[in-house]
Amino acid sequence: MQTIYWNLHADADSDNKAEVLQAAGRLLRQGEVVAFPTETVYGLGADGLNGAAVAKIFAAKGRPADNPLILHIARKEDILPLTSGLTANARALMEAFWPGPLTLIVDKSQLIPDEVSAGLATVGVRMPSHPVAAGLIAATGRPIAAPSANISGKPSPTDAQAVWDDMQGKIAGIIDGGSCGIGVESTVVDTTAAVPMILRPGGITREMLEAVLGAVEVDPALGGQGDFKPKAPGMKYRHYAPQAAMYLFEGEAAMQIPAVAAKAAAQGIRTGVLCSEKIAAQLPQAENMLVSAWGQDTQALAEKLYSLLRGFDKQQAELIVAEGVGEDGLGLAVMNRLRKAAGYQIVTVSDGRLCAKSGTLLPEFMLK
Ligand code: AMP
Ligand code: MG
Repeated sequence: MQTIYWNLHADADSDNKAEVLQAAGRLLRQGEVVAFPTETVYGLGADGLNGAAVAKIFAAKGRPADNPLILHIARKEDILPLTSGLTANARALMEAFWPGPLTLIVDKSQLIPDEVSAGLATVGVRMPSHPVAAGLIAATGRPIAAPSANISGKPSPTDAQAVWDDMQGKIAGIIDGGSCGIGVESTVVDTTAAVPMILRPGGITREMLEAVLGAVEVDPALGGQGDFKPKAPGMKYRHYAPQAAMYLFEGEAAMQIPAVAAKAAAQGIRTGVLCSEKIAAQLPQAENMLVSAWGQDTQALAEKLYSLLRGFDKQQAELIVAEGVGEDGLGLAVMNRLRKAAGYQIVTVSDGRLCAKSGTLLPEFMLK
């Protein structure tokens, strides 16, 4: 299949923009798949009320059939036909955070194809704030089912080039709207429970939700250890993963990244270092060392996280050592993605020595 590439990013001409959205909306109504930017990551869209169209998304991504999709709408009231009823908590969250990076899990209506909800009794709904996403949904005139526009398991795309790398030839079109602002996916909140629960941390923080709802729980399975099964089916898969073996240095362990990276590089291992400017300043110049510094704060890390991980793949890194951040605010989402990207290979410090959490064996160059 030939994939149409529309560049709305380079071209500020608004007439052209309306035309592109109409053309893409037509393809979506015909049951085709089109990728588009949102404020979180790029989405892979199809008509959310057409099961056969939605099945094409699963095929293009190689997504497991048991992992449900989120429906994207252009107006708040468009949620009403999609649900058998909203709780007071769901209404409060819509008022506070829509349009924006918040997905509400609600009881589904008869309209929802099984392909979207993967057989669950609930459906995820979100109203994005990105003008291209909002314009495309309005032009299509249907809810758009859209997971992240990556091949399943790979880091999500935050620019159109990353979508092109994964999807060219497999889908009808890609709308290039530039880089996504937030960089991590939406927060997924189950609003059907008595106390709403965060199933996936994301762009709307726990603190922001608590300010509206009072109490919020976090799915205990998100820690990755223990026998809990995550309530969002997608959270159980290794995800956001680069090709290299990745280790996440949490807390004080981060101070030892320069020494560890230097040793690995000296052994001829192509070593990617994902860290703050502070740690980057302590890294020696070395052959085999690929440094990606994100800047000062967690927001900057969230914005660049996936493109830096994809960059290591392109540079054929064999090892990635990454610095963790605090879990307040956006840090909860960033640490969730980093831990998953690392396959839970987490490095901490005990008695001044590096050690691994839960069963991970550390390579020799990390041990003194
Ligand atoms: P993505 O589409 O890649 O952004 O991923 C959507 C996430 O939301 C996945 O982790 C899904 O498992 C989760 N999700 C979607 N619908 C539901 C639902 N009805 N109940 C629980 N989790 C859901
Ligand atoms: Mg995804």
